[in-house]
Amino acid sequence: MKHAINADHTVICELKGIQKSFDRETGHPLRVLEDINLDVRANEVVCLIGPSGCGKSTILRILAGLIEPTKGRTFYHGKEMEGLNPGVAIVFQNFALYPWMTVEANVKTVLQAQGLDDATIKAKAHRAISLVGLEGFEEAYPRELSGGMKQRVGMARALSVDPEILFMDEPFSHVDALTAEGLRAEILDIWDDAERNPSSILMVSHDIKEVVYMADRIVVLSANPGRLRTIVENPLPRPRDMRSPEFIRLVDQLHDIITSTELPDVEVTAPAPSLQPDIVEPLPPAPSSDILGLLEYLETQGGTADLFQVATATHVTFEKILASVKGAEMLDFVDTPKRQVVLTTLGQRFVRASMDERKDIWKAQLLELRLFRMVMEFIELHQGELKADELRSELQQRLPMENSEQTFDTLVTWGRFGELFAYREDREMITPE
Ligand code: ADP
Ligand code: MG
Repeated sequence: MKHAINADHTVICELKGIQKSFDRETGHPLRVLEDINLDVRANEVVCLIGPSGCGKSTILRILAGLIEPTKGRTFYHGKEMEGLNPGVAIVFQNFALYPWMTVEANVKTVLQAQGLDDATIKAKAHRAISLVGLEGFEEAYPRELSGGMKQRVGMARALSVDPEILFMDEPFSHVDALTAEGLRAEILDIWDDAERNPSSILMVSHDIKEVVYMADRIVVLSANPGRLRTIVENPLPRPRDMRSPEFIRLVDQLHDIITSTELPDVEVTAPAPSLQPDIVEPLPPAPSSDILGLLEYLETQGGTADLFQVATATHVTFEKILASVKGAEMLDFVDTPKRQVVLTTLGQRFVRASMDERKDIWKAQLLELRLFRMVMEFIELHQGELKADELRSELQQRLPMENSEQTFDTLVTWGRFGELFAYREDREMITPE
């Protein structure tokens, strides 16, 4: 049992003060991670959760040694890392199998890369294949397998090298729910064998229940740039029962932590304009069509719904729903008391209106936001022809904490829908309607 109280919890690998930016054509680098400090210890399962694009996969890649941080240091057993992390094997979201190779050949690829002799390769591949329950499928090709079985191959391949730490990047997001449930339990069984590797698991997820089921420590990240929000210790004994009251309570708690970081508080708009005239509102990554979808869904629910319920019913990820809710709230179309989303009177009027009326209401709401007023002034300043890049760099300056590319994209969809301005992609030019 790995989770025993007296188990060894020495640090296996660690990130210190990590910052990561990616270069972009616009010249402004995209700041993805800011001051990340994180370790993975022996005999634990750590999960990373946070909105999409917040840098979870980037953290995983840096810790695996696949990419280098812009700033900060990475350690493996106390030594500064150079190149690949020798203790890590990764399971990817999209399985990453070679379609022209059999199951066995796919598993063998990583073992062959280690330069082992044929007999050892055969033995290790066989052991890994049986560990994930794929005995009898050695000669099958990926196309003959279900999503869950393909992910078993991905798991076998990673486990075959007997890694000290298993990294998994949203491994079950392309697997049906029931299969995912089984795979999670199986991977924990494999991990829990105290005599064997992997000693630890680091997993990226966007599913709160999955994280509560799997993790000893839950690392909550916020976006733009990605920062470590908080780390939640998970005290629930294993094996965990997703239906137990303690489990549901922890899911609720985590849910509240995530929503309180991602939903605007009482103050949606910027603080007193007279004091900080330059402040504009950051936009959530929610295109106008998503917000419309949300409002229409709420209308079918009598104007109110639980956030979780919306995510489940609409098959949209929780992060996307949060972004749409945030957007709708900025436009005064919804309120968000606790975990409920409620159409406001204006929101109700909006969904029930004709398309033309909708556009008018939307436009009026946009003009309530400083950001859109700023854009309109800016267009005027540029004699009605504003280059996209000029606006992007203005956004970068005004909203240094945001991803200006993303803000720009959202801004264009909102502006277009309200017919406030037009954006010509071919000329990269913003013009008044
Ligand atoms: P997550 O896994 O949390 O969804 P990622 O780590 O994949 O987020 O990406 C974080 C941000 O970094 C995203 O905005 C993404 O577009 C950007 N990004 C990731 N990899 C690269 C890259 N190689 N070049 C440029 N931008 C990248
Ligand atoms: Mg990712």
